[in-house]
Amino acid sequence: MDETLESGHSQVISAGIKKTGGFYSNSSVASEEDFTHLRQYVRGKFVEAGTEITNGKIDISPYKLKDKTPCAFCEYRSICQFDESMENNEYRQLSTESQSVILDKIREEAKRDE
Ligand code: SF4
Repeated sequence: MDETLESGHSQVISAGIKKTGGFYSNSSVASEEDFTHLRQYVRGKFVEAGTEITNGKIDISPYKLKDKTPCAFCEYRSICQFDESMENNEYRQLSTESQSVILDKIREEAKRDE
């Protein structure tokens, strides 16, 4: 995605390459194998969501990660019927597991599917 990056921090992606080689520790990077697993996992989630929608599951079910929700910036807020004060209108609280724990789970799932 940043084809100009040779060393230093990218202006395009969340990654940087040291002059001595390798990535800076604050870079958001994944190995090619992990990236393949991530792509497969996300594709599976799209298929799962699409199947659920065509099967009639159309719940309004926004997530909450700590205190952040997608509703705060949503363009559809004025017409959306999600109202936390209504019964059965609850945010899906996402867990705040570390990146390594999540990647381990995705790797395990990929191994099960092989
Ligand atoms: S306002 Fe409604 S449509 Fe928008 S993110 Fe929240 S629940 Fe979803």
